[in-house]
Amino acid sequence: MFIAEIKKFIYKRILRKKYFRKGSCKRCGACCSRIYVSHGKHTIDSEEEFESLRDKYPFYSYLSVEGKDDIGLIFSCCNFDADKHICKIHKMRPGICRRYPDEFVFSMGACLSDGCGYSFEPIEKFSEILANIEKKPLKNCVIFTDELDTDEEET
Ligand code: SF4
Ligand code: SF4
Repeated sequence: MFIAEIKKFIYKRILRKKYFRKGSCKRCGACCSRIYVSHGKHTIDSEEEFESLRDKYPFYSYLSVEGKDDIGLIFSCCNFDADKHICKIHKMRPGICRRYPDEFVFSMGACLSDGCGYSFEPIEKFSEILANIEKKPLKNCVIFTDELDTDEEET
């Protein structure tokens, strides 16, 4: 219990995380293909823009355009060996791949690939958040409870 509380404190207060990452990589390679690339506040959707950015960001040089949909261009990484199911530059892979999946990508609207071995669990359960709010109600915020409803019915 004590260790769990320390872990929670480190994740929440020091690392500023909202989720615990659970599980492990099953080496399916799904996250190395069908990749969208976010740049600034938008998803890259034109090959001209991608070409102009490719020289500035080393990771982009590994990507090739596989298609396009309503979200943007769809890329795959040339470093994934589909036969052996390994990253050919595993020891030298970019930071974004080392950290993947990081909850940051979800704040940008991404989601885990189907069948990914990882999952995310909120550090604070909804019941804990609700209990904290009830202890310190937000200004200008009314929390309706069964009790309040009962009072209103009686008047
Ligand atoms: S999708 Fe998940 S399980 Fe598959 S390679 Fe990527 S991180 Fe690993
Ligand atoms: S560099 Fe390796 S881990 Fe990163 S996307 Fe490419 S194949 Fe996947």
